[in-house]
Amino acid sequence: MGIPIAREYTVELAASVTRHVTCEKCSAQYDYELRRKSIGGGISVLFLNDAGAEATAQERAETSLQRKMKEHDPVPCPCCGWYQRVMIPYARRQFHRWMNWAAAVVLPVGIVFFILAFFGKAQSPPVSDETLVKLWAATVLLLGTSAGLYFGRSIWALYHQPNQTPRKGRIRLGKKRSRLVVAGDAPPPRKVGAKSRR
Ligand SMILES: [Zn+2]
Repeated sequence: MGIPIAREYTVELAASVTRHVTCEKCSAQYDYELRRKSIGGGISVLFLNDAGAEATAQERAETSLQRKMKEHDPVPCPCCGWYQRVMIPYARRQFHRWMNWAAAVVLPVGIVFFILAFFGKAQSPPVSDETLVKLWAATVLLLGTSAGLYFGRSIWALYHQPNQTPRKGRIRLGKKRSRLVVAGDAPPPRKVGAKSRR
């Protein structure tokens, strides 16, 4: 066990606000809840400034939360399914986010293979040339996959048009995430294959 030489302070804050939205497409008005969390940290080296570190942590958490509370959520209109212009960057940010997580999982494995390959000849006994080739191949494959997932997602998301996804799904999401205040003038979604009854 090491000797403690510093105290770390962490402050966690959470807030929520009701966002009122007027649809650009059909003029419907709807509300949704925007929730954000933030974490701020401060370090008191040699316990010399505990109060200062706590205040720093609080200030950082507050600043971060204030910035986050200005954001928007991609919540489409519950009447017509339209994502408002201000929401598009947030919809793109959330687009296929799993690819970033996958990239983050693959990266450390790639780094381990890189280290094994890099120091392969320095080991005693040194690894064979055949093994070394395999290690480098695995390194290139893993690091390439990680970079491909991360940058691929970023570029793909730039071209993502949330309003071109199926309308029914957007309306469903809008209804789930929001509360309709004033209905808009959106025509109801066409029911494909529905038969009229008399
Ligand atoms: Zn609308």
